[in-house]
Amino acid sequence: MKEKPTMTFRLGDDFYDKLDRFTKKVLEEGFELFKEEFKNIDGFYEKALKDTSKHKALTFIRTPKHLYLIEALYYQAFEYINREAFNKAEETVIILPDCLALMGDKCKRKRKKLGKICTRCVPNCQINRIMQIADEYNVEGYYSKRALTEQIQKIKKRKPSLAVIGISCILTMASGMRSAKEAGVPSRGVFLNFTGCEHWAGKPFPTETAVERVKAILEEKYGLPDQKP
Ligand code: SF4
Repeated sequence: MKEKPTMTFRLGDDFYDKLDRFTKKVLEEGFELFKEEFKNIDGFYEKALKDTSKHKALTFIRTPKHLYLIEALYYQAFEYINREAFNKAEETVIILPDCLALMGDKCKRKRKKLGKICTRCVPNCQINRIMQIADEYNVEGYYSKRALTEQIQKIKKRKPSLAVIGISCILTMASGMRSAKEAGVPSRGVFLNFTGCEHWAGKPFPTETAVERVKAILEEKYGLPDQKP
């Protein structure tokens, strides 16, 4: 007997009404909840809309506030979904953003096969601090490449039981986690606290992240450093 096909989902006539109500509610509550964190986005967005320069990231920075919230939600859903697999994977690698380097274009990062690495040139750089924590767990860190999926796939070839921690801004985190998913690798992430790269600032400045959160993710997975198997 032929098996009946199973449908993953099936939309009824009222689906769009329900989705409309749900989305409006989420956005309204989200904007209220994050009004302090997101207070500059509208102004930035309006300015970007009026920008007639040849700014190469114009489309990217012309992102309305709604999408910041949705990207943050997407990230949080990934966090829920990935957590168990992330903790089960034997090895972890941290994927780092350029803009977190304190020395900016004077950063002394070094090219390696799997990506560039921090050479610990200044003690107060957050990447240096993150890598010192990572050292306690034998965890490597690489600067993110444009072809992120390929980069993660390459790392996975060397470390078949792999999970990654990505550090990234709100608008690029979820896409990075999707790239990791494409590479078959569970990911978790920590956001940058603000943006500062050339996409957002005429004169780029170093960003910051919650270093303690990176530490907490590693501790959750491996225990305290001296407990790591
Ligand atoms: S400490 Fe590392 S990441 Fe920071 S500026 Fe130096 S080489 Fe670059």
